[in-house]
Amino acid sequence: MPIPAPPMKLTCRSCGCRHVYPQRSDAVVLPGECAACGSEDLERTVAGPLDGAAALAELTLHRLKGG
Ligand SMILES: [Zn+2]
Repeated sequence: MPIPAPPMKLTCRSCGCRHVYPQRSDAVVLPGECAACGSEDLERTVAGPLDGAAALAELTLHRLKGG
């Protein structure tokens, strides 16, 4: 049984933008720069339960929008 990896949260120290990336495998590649401002000054933390729920909601919205 694979151990489910917790989602990772990237916080941009430059603009404060946050993104949560659910990890479905051990080969998830996290972006090296902020998606909003392009800064590479990112803080990587393990997302909490609320962050995980937000990420799931975000993924659901993306699927509903078809992309
Ligand atoms: Zn940023």
